[in-house]
This record gives sequence, C-alpha cells and structure tokens, in this order.
Amino acid sequence: MQLHVVDHPLVAHKLTVLRDLETDSPTFRRLADELVTLLAYEATRGVRVEPHEIRTPVAPTTGVRLSAPKPLVVPILRAGLGMLDGMTRLVPTAEVGFLGMVRDERTLLASTYANRMPEDLSGRQVFLLDPMLATGGTLAAAIRFAFERGANEVVAICLLAAPEGVAAVEAAFGPEAPITVVVAAVDERLNRHGYIVPGLGDAGDRLYGVV
Ligand code: URA
Repeated sequence: MQLHVVDHPLVAHKLTVLRDLETDSPTFRRLADELVTLLAYEATRGVRVEPHEIRTPVAPTTGVRLSAPKPLVVPILRAGLGMLDGMTRLVPTAEVGFLGMVRDERTLLASTYANRMPEDLSGRQVFLLDPMLATGGTLAAAIRFAFERGANEVVAICLLAAPEGVAAVEAAFGPEAPITVVVAAVDERLNRHGYIVPGLGDAGDRLYGVV
C-alpha cells in the first residue's frame, strides 16, 4: 500500500477552513468539492491511458485517451457523496458505483447497507471516495469488496486520515497490495469515540447536517 499526502498550500488552506467549527454546511460542501478535485489530480496520476491518433489543424499526431474499461469511481455513502462531483469533474467519463456503509458507533465495525456495483470488476481501477480514514474498518471493507469482484487496483481518496486507520488498512492487505491512499493530511490520532483528532468532526453531519 502506498500513502500519498498531498503537500500543497491550497490543499492546506482549504483543509483549514473545513476543519473550522465556524464553517457552515454550504461552505463546507463547496470547499470539500474543490479539495477533492485537487486530491483527484494526484490520485489519477496512474490512471490508465492508451495511444490515440488524432489530426490537429496542422498535422496528425498521437495523443492518449482513457483506456477501457473506464475507471470506476465509488463514493462510500453517506459522506463520500460529497466528494463525487469534485472527482467526476476531473474524470467525467468514469463510471460511478455506490457503496453504502455504516459503522456501529459502539463497536466501530463497518457493515454494508447498500451496494450498486458492477458484478465483475476484473482488470478495473477503482477509485473509492471516503472523506475520513479513521479506524480503517470501512475503507478496508470497501477495498475487500472491490478485490473480491476482481479489481486489480484500488485508489482511495480521503480528506483526512488517522495514523491508526492507515496502519489498519496496510495490516489488512499487506505492504505490497495494489492500493494507494491519497489524503490531504494525516492527523495526530483517534479519540476513544473513533473520531480523528484534531480532525473536522463528523464529515457527513458537516456536509448534510445532522439527520
Ligand atoms: N468519521 C467522521 O466523519 N469523522 C471522524 O473524525 C471519524 C470518522
């Protein structure tokens, strides 16, 4: 597994506003969207392309286009939904699947409550969107799901990670697994409720309000 922390002043600036308790939901949604686009730029560095012949007004030339099968983008509901537009803005032809996962706030274990994913992911690059890599339980379950259906590479885009979550995902799949985690920052730790410290609170609530 590879961890890529995107070190860029604009990323740090937007993340600081997201963390701020005073930031309201509309601003949070807009900034999360912008931040994801910046992270997605790094996360898609390894997206597969193939040669493509075109003619410019001046001469024929060989460029590239996204290879088939197209990348599959999967927001993990609910909070991952707030990352979808920021991702598809950069890769508009990607296919989109959905995974609904919830963690039990007492046991911190993740379970799947919704799944709209292709049966066969053979040879696919899968981009998982999950804002908070906390215990790693949800992300590990989603990665396992993608590998069981045949995906041969998973890139997870998260706004924030806790060191415990990064370690848990690496422990679950091993250092050589074809997994890349792209984050804006790795914070200090988890608290006893499984929240990232200093973090930004509950990402779903900050995006959509408390329901
Ligand atoms: N999920 C969140 O939304 N926030 C955290 O800090 C941890 C998990």
